[in-house]
Amino acid sequence: MLKPTPTFEHQLHIETQQYLAKGCRWISILSFVLGLVTFFAKLYNNPNQDLMFTTLSILPLVGVSFYGSVHNFLQAEKPDVGNFNRYYRYIFALVLCWLTVCNMLVMQGIAAENRVEAILHLLIFSLSVALFPKRGILLLSVFFMASYMAILRFFYSEELFFPVVKMLCFAGVVISGQQVMEKWFRKAVFKDVENQRLLEELNQLALTDGLTKMSNRRYFDMMLKKEIQHSERTAQPMSIILMDIDYFKKLNDHLGHQRGDECLVELAKLLKGLIKRPRDVCARYGGEEFIVLLPETDIAGAVDVAHKIKIKLNQLGFKHPDSLASEFVTVSQGVSQWRKGMTVEQLVKQADDKLYEVKAKSRNNIAFAL
Ligand code: GH3
Ligand code: MG
Ligand code: MG
Repeated sequence: MLKPTPTFEHQLHIETQQYLAKGCRWISILSFVLGLVTFFAKLYNNPNQDLMFTTLSILPLVGVSFYGSVHNFLQAEKPDVGNFNRYYRYIFALVLCWLTVCNMLVMQGIAAENRVEAILHLLIFSLSVALFPKRGILLLSVFFMASYMAILRFFYSEELFFPVVKMLCFAGVVISGQQVMEKWFRKAVFKDVENQRLLEELNQLALTDGLTKMSNRRYFDMMLKKEIQHSERTAQPMSIILMDIDYFKKLNDHLGHQRGDECLVELAKLLKGLIKRPRDVCARYGGEEFIVLLPETDIAGAVDVAHKIKIKLNQLGFKHPDSLASEFVTVSQGVSQWRKGMTVEQLVKQADDKLYEVKAKSRNNIAFAL
């Protein structure tokens, strides 16, 4: 089970607010409209029935949902993290009111006979008891209503006390239902927030290199594509540097794979420390290949960065006893500048060709495409 952290709780509150702000609006309006329809339907279908009965049965619900509609339209856009409880308690009350109004609508339609109506009431409330775990309030109200109805229906004629009892029972449903739905809602939001977090984590994992913790080739390609689109539009220069560690296989063979890994991590750190502009990207492109994206930089600027990398790496002094280029680890670098119409593949290929040139002629050097 995942434990919510304070930040997580905070996020949960905000999410809850947003859900409720949206949900409250329509549910309250729906219950209001439904309540009104029920009220007038009752008046129309039972013109002889006591107006007091109809009013007591329906109007409180209509009133609550009307207040909810006004309240939610005024407040919905102002999520207040400290006061989020108010919102979702409120929505549950409205959902329950809405269900109750529906029940009444159904009951009114089918319960022509008093006994049938009584049985229906009992069935509906028994179902409510079965659905809502906080049964104390419900059992009490159902018991109260059932006994009263039994007496009323069999020995006396209908009177005003009946709707009052009915309303008490509905209040019982609303109160206990609130607690259950609140839990359910919180759980649903919690799950949703958790899923979002996992998705973000997954995305992060998919775009990061596990060893060096820097961006991977997938991320680089994505960003390069975007930058090319940007340069197409703005005609700004943009360059890349592709580098490959010299005699890395020898280093692995001589000092061990672990030392090889350390070398990759050190080079990644060096690059991250050096390539710092907000839109710059450096990534691990392959085994011992790294790549740097330099937006708004022409070839001269990029070659300058490549020289800085060379110097810094020499200063780092990562011992490579088996290298033919230096006593320390070195890289060969190919630099190329994007020209209008070039694709991602063409640009990388150009840098790769230049890198190959350095590898063929010497090492620990830089070549750039004119
Ligand atoms: P060159 O100077 O021509 O680039 O030679 P090289 O030895 O650097 O290049 P080569 O392509 O022959 O070898 C690359 C080596 O990099 C082979 C591979 O085992 C090693 N390698 C690739 N990924 C990793 C890694 O994650 N960790 C370690 N330690 N080694 C790796
Ligand atoms: Mg290589
Ligand atoms: Mg190499």
